[in-house]
Amino acid sequence: MSSPVFGNYIDGEWIAGGPMFENRNPANIDDIAGLFARGSAADVEAAAGAAAAALPAWAAMPAPARGNILYKAADILDRRFEMIAAEMTREEGKTLPESKGEVRRSINIFRYYAAEGARLAGMLAPSERERVQTFAVRKPVGVVALITPWNFPSAIPAWKLAPALICGNTVVLKPASAAPLSAWRLVEALHEAGIPKGVVNYVAGPGGALGDALIGARPVRGVSFTGSCQVGYKLHAEASRRRLRIQLEMGGKNPTIVLADADFNSAVENVVNGAFFSTGQKCTATSRAIVEDAIYGRFLEALVERTKRLKVGDGSQAGVEIGPCVDDAQIQTVMRYIEIGRKECGEPRAGGFRLSGGGYDKGYFIAPTVFADVTESMTIAQEEIFGPVLAVMRARDFDDAMRLANGVPFGLSASIQTTNVSRVFEYISRMEAGLLTVNLPSAGVEYQLPFGGTKDSSFGPKEQGQAALEFYSDFKTVYLKY
Ligand code: NAP
Repeated sequence: MSSPVFGNYIDGEWIAGGPMFENRNPANIDDIAGLFARGSAADVEAAAGAAAAALPAWAAMPAPARGNILYKAADILDRRFEMIAAEMTREEGKTLPESKGEVRRSINIFRYYAAEGARLAGMLAPSERERVQTFAVRKPVGVVALITPWNFPSAIPAWKLAPALICGNTVVLKPASAAPLSAWRLVEALHEAGIPKGVVNYVAGPGGALGDALIGARPVRGVSFTGSCQVGYKLHAEASRRRLRIQLEMGGKNPTIVLADADFNSAVENVVNGAFFSTGQKCTATSRAIVEDAIYGRFLEALVERTKRLKVGDGSQAGVEIGPCVDDAQIQTVMRYIEIGRKECGEPRAGGFRLSGGGYDKGYFIAPTVFADVTESMTIAQEEIFGPVLAVMRARDFDDAMRLANGVPFGLSASIQTTNVSRVFEYISRMEAGLLTVNLPSAGVEYQLPFGGTKDSSFGPKEQGQAALEFYSDFKTVYLKY
């Protein structure tokens, strides 16, 4: 059976033909989810040109009318909900319930920003002068480039596309090569919803070549990037040379602090959920459990026992809790860190190996891995691994736990498990991270609130909620004498 072919989308046209690349199912690498047109620098140039040409009319369209197109696209996605979720599991590997949750979130994001079309508030302030009216209106930034990772292949493109469009910008989207189909479905829905040609452009292909072309394209005025620190810092340096507006959301080394007074069973569940669901491939995943000395031994034992019971497999199968790593490069990275962990602190207490036999041989499966007695200077306590690997660390008390939690260059998300309300407020005040949870997993955020980190994890205005409008719009301030 031949594989479906997905073209790029430039100036309202689907462009296929030319070189292609494969999108394979990480749970079964014999299964090709689709063939994608491999975009070139010339395609990026054409897409940026089309976006520039479409900008004046799109920016001039009343914002509620722009919102209506987002509403229509959301309805189209809703009608295809089951299919798009199944495709996401096939291309990225996350379990079907996780994919459904993500597609639902993309639909909600489209509707949330569609409604923003009827608000998009500027500012009104009293003047110091008589008979002078002062106000500021929002205007778009211009053509923006959106560069997205594979781990949330629908929600991240959605939470960049929707606020960019409602603010009147036109866009060129470059999805991750490991999972380009979910983003393609968003663009397809916008196309069918009647978005004017050139307003949204989609160019898939290798990040290095296309990224350089995007940053260098003259019409591009802003870049929103989510991905690794390595790529993000490079983009920042290049974008700064062109004085582009830029927003970066990158890696993390997120802690969950477990205090002795925590609700024990829910703390175990929250750490397991935060560390291993989505195969540990969430930027907000827990990768360090920092456990107070008084319950360390008992907590570790319960955590290891629960981890060993996790069901790993093809995420499309009912009952599977943990899917595969996304591709060969990612599983190699994770296995390399597991070997580093072995050298640093001995045999892991759970997992530590690639799963084999039966269906496992066709995919990128790792047994969820727990290292115990990890200390702060070890590599596995400092570097992002981005896989199902958890470092468990011992803290003398709350202050020691806070010191350890903040002792990394990253600051994306953090969690605390405790029933002591004073400790909760101490943690909210002292924790150096952009997203804090209490008695919940470190991962699992909602679209109505600002999203993003601090320290080396992020740069620029936050994403999602009302905060996203600050990146995708600028103010024009008016002083009017009457
Ligand atoms: P990545 O390798 O940095 O890739 C992200 C995107 O950048 C992809 O579209 C990639 O294209 C592209 N890219 C690669 N090299 C580029 C270059 N030189 N110039 C411009 N673009 C380039 O990251 P990833 O492996 O996809 O994602 C995992 C990382 O994302 C982790 O570090 C994770 O923590 C982070 N992440 C952060 C957040 C957050 O909100 N903070 C959310 C999710 C993920 P190709 O796919 O073609 O290489």
